[in-house]
Amino acid sequence: MRDVVVVGAGPAGIHAASLLAQAGLDVVLFEAQNRVGERAICSGVLGDEAFGRFDLPTHPILADIRCIQAVSPGGRTLEHRTDVPLARVLDKGEFNRAMAQQAICAGVEMQLGCWVNSLEVEKHSVVINFRSTGAGPSRLRAQVAVITTGVNGSLNRALGLARPRQFLRALQTELTLPPNGNGGATRVYVGQGVAPGAFGWEIPLGNGKWRVGLMTEQDPEPYLAKLVRRIAPHTDISTLRVDRKGIAQAPVGRSVTERVVAAGEAAGHIKTTTGGGIYYGLLSAELVADVVTRAFRKKSFTLGTLGEFERYWRSTFGNELMVGYFARKLASHFTDRQIDSFFEVARATDLLVRLNGRLKFDWHHRALLATLRALLTLPGGVGAS
Ligand SMILES: Cc1cc2nc3c(=O)[nH]c(=O)nc-3n(C[C@H](O)[C@H](O)[C@H](O)COP(=O)(O)OP(=O)(O)OC[C@H]3O[C@@H](n4cnc5c(N)ncnc54)[C@H](O)[C@@H]3O)c2cc1C
Repeated sequence: MRDVVVVGAGPAGIHAASLLAQAGLDVVLFEAQNRVGERAICSGVLGDEAFGRFDLPTHPILADIRCIQAVSPGGRTLEHRTDVPLARVLDKGEFNRAMAQQAICAGVEMQLGCWVNSLEVEKHSVVINFRSTGAGPSRLRAQVAVITTGVNGSLNRALGLARPRQFLRALQTELTLPPNGNGGATRVYVGQGVAPGAFGWEIPLGNGKWRVGLMTEQDPEPYLAKLVRRIAPHTDISTLRVDRKGIAQAPVGRSVTERVVAAGEAAGHIKTTTGGGIYYGLLSAELVADVVTRAFRKKSFTLGTLGEFERYWRSTFGNELMVGYFARKLASHFTDRQIDSFFEVARATDLLVRLNGRLKFDWHHRALLATLRALLTLPGGVGAS
């Protein structure tokens, strides 16, 4: 019988396991891949705030982001530039491995190449049924299980736990390109012809390398081909390696049951505006570790005790998830003409300058509500077109 089994070694699972081990608990971390960080499909953008808040490895940082440019369908731009880094771009696989090394040092037992098939909640334990590479099925008992399986929510679903309200479909590739003449800006492309319901991106990594990708509510393949042609007209997309993955959006239902808690993207804890899941995954892990540690002190693993997690995450970032989700949904109905007219009005009225103070890399709901207010009150704004 182990104290805690964490399923899934992404940022959320590794951080939760690490904090639980630091609190003196006996923790096993199961990961399906044979190596941590394998197939960690991600743009790796992490706001600078995270490096101040959490003890994160810095050697996987590939580049700083000091300028973000949003590009409208008609080519109008809105730019946010700062002297200090707004965010860092990570080698996500290496970031996960470095975090896993910290977790092992904290006492976490790592079980790689282990696919967890199911969790069975019993009166005095939770049974973890798994299959490891090269060996048959096996099982382990623990007092508590934490599900941090990312976009794969099959364990949650089987227990009737939170499922995402929606999935976006994302594609990403890497290109070698000359400088884009935008002072190293990270560019975000919006519009119905670019990425319906979400956006495309172009992130400089340094040394002429760029991450180019998009997420959308529709089939993303034709949109990526179009975006690559726009950014690098001479590139043959069939020669590029393209990674595909879903992105969860906003949870529905509870993330806790007796002896089991779901956290990170598995629980829908991911920014609903940008699809960024690293920062909220780490926050979610911190909250889950706190609640589980206190449950061990009380020797109580009931829904009542573990349910504290539900209250914590809702009060910490629940508003962000819901305002972001509905703002993105609202924006997904704008025509390209309305988006262009929004960019015009925003430039003419210095909207970004007026939002300053409310514009935070990882916290969007204040800026979104202020933008909505501006849209409704400005003459000639989106509402008028
Ligand atoms: C194209 C793309 C770009 C993105 N860009 C960004 C970005 O720039 N910034 C950002 O913050 N976020 C980004 N995200 C989202 C981010 O990658 C995820 O939200 C984040 O990694 C979620 O962390 P997690 O720990 O919850 O889950 P994950 O990182 O997904 O980790 C889950 C782990 O669980 C393992 N697993 C799953 N099921 C099982 C099982 N049954 N048994 C054992 N192991 C299992 C998986 O192998 C995986 O290692 C992007 C996503 C995509 C698709």
